[in-house]
Amino acid sequence: MRPLQMVDLKTQYTRIKPEIDRAVLDVLESTAFINGKPVQDFSGNLARYLGAKHVIPCANGTDALQIAMMALGLQPGDEVITPSFTYIATTEVVALLKLKPVFVEVDPKTFCMDPESLAKAITPKTKAIVPVHLYGHVAPMEAIMKIAAEHDLYVIEDVAQAIGASYTFSNGTTKKAGTIGTVGCTSFFPSKNLGCYGDGGAIFTDDDTLALQLKMVANHGQQKKYYHEVVGCNSRLDTVQAAVLDIKLRHLDDYIAARNKAADHYDQAFAGNPKIRTPYRAPNSTHVFHQYTLILEGVDRDGLHQHLASRDIPSMIYYPVPGHKQKMFESFDLQVAAMPVTDWLTERVISLPMHTELDEEQLNMITTAVLEYVNK
Ligand SMILES: *Cc1c(COP(=O)(O)O)cnc(C)c1O
Repeated sequence: MRPLQMVDLKTQYTRIKPEIDRAVLDVLESTAFINGKPVQDFSGNLARYLGAKHVIPCANGTDALQIAMMALGLQPGDEVITPSFTYIATTEVVALLKLKPVFVEVDPKTFCMDPESLAKAITPKTKAIVPVHLYGHVAPMEAIMKIAAEHDLYVIEDVAQAIGASYTFSNGTTKKAGTIGTVGCTSFFPSKNLGCYGDGGAIFTDDDTLALQLKMVANHGQQKKYYHEVVGCNSRLDTVQAAVLDIKLRHLDDYIAARNKAADHYDQAFAGNPKIRTPYRAPNSTHVFHQYTLILEGVDRDGLHQHLASRDIPSMIYYPVPGHKQKMFESFDLQVAAMPVTDWLTERVISLPMHTELDEEQLNMITTAVLEYVNK
C-alpha cells in the first residue's frame, strides 16, 4: 500500500507526468520565465472555467487578498469583517494594511461565516466583508451579499480552499465560488485543490475598472512601464507555475470528483456514530473537500491523533488557534467579542487525509483506525 499522507502530490504528478514535463520543458526552452504565453493562456482558461470576466494572476493567495484590499482603496482604520475560524492569511493582510480586523463567528455546520454574527458586527466604519469558503464549502453567499448590499460594503471572497465549488441562489442562478462578491482571491499553493509546483495565486472580478486597478497594484502601480500611478507591489505568477496550472486545470473537475468519492466513503463509514459529526453539505453549495474535517464529541482528540499516528496515519488540526486568540493581534486593541462557537469548534475539529489519490484500501485502513479508537 502507498504510504498515507494528508496530501499525495507525488502520485498525482506521476499520473500527469508526460503532460507536465513537456509543458515545463517548453517554458525552459522559451526562457520566457516571467509573463510568458502560459500565463495569459492559463488566466484566460481559468476565467472561462469560473465564468469570471477577469483573472489577474499573482504570486500567492496572501498577496491576492492584499492586492484586492489595496485596489479597493481601503484606508487605515477601515473595518474589515472576517471569520476568526480561518487560516491566518485572511486576517493578517487586514492588519498589515493598517485596516481593522473585526472577527465574527462561523456556523458550526458549514464552518463558514455566520450571517447573523456578521450583521451584528457592522458599524459605520465597516468597508468590507471577507467570507472564507473554508475546507471547500461555499459560505452562505446569498445572505452575505444581501447584508453587503444593504450597507454598501465590498465582498472579498477568500476562495483559497474552494476553487471549483459552486453556489446556487434561491432564484436558481448558480455561480462559482470567487465570482459572487466584488472580488475573489485564491491560492495555488501545492496542497490546494488546484495547486502548482511552487507558489501562485489569482484574483477574479467582473468589474473592468477594478480589474485595471488590481493589475496596476500587482505591477508596481504602473500601467505604462516606468510610469507609476499608485503605490503597488510586485506580485507575479511565474511562467513555469502557469504552465503547470494550465494542465492541472483540465483535471480539476476530476480531482473534485475524486475528493468527493473519498468524502462519501468516509461519510458512510462514520454514519450514525454519535461521537463523530461528518461534514455538512448545504443543499445550495457543492463541496470540493479541500479538507475532510470531523467534529468529535466526547472523544479525546489528542488521543485519536496519537492512535492514528501509531498506525502511520496522519491527521491535522485546522486550525489549533483561532484568529481572535493569536498573539499577533494582542497589541491591536481589537475589543474582540466572545467567540463561543469558534472556541468550541477549535477544540473539537480534526482533519483526515484528503486528496485525489486515496484508494479503498487506504480509506478502509483510516476509517477502521478512527472507529477503533472512538468506539473503544
Ligand atoms: C492557503 C490559504 C491562503 C493563503 O494562500 P498562500 O498562497 O499560502 O499565500 C489564504 N486563505 C486561506 C483560507 C488559505 O487556505
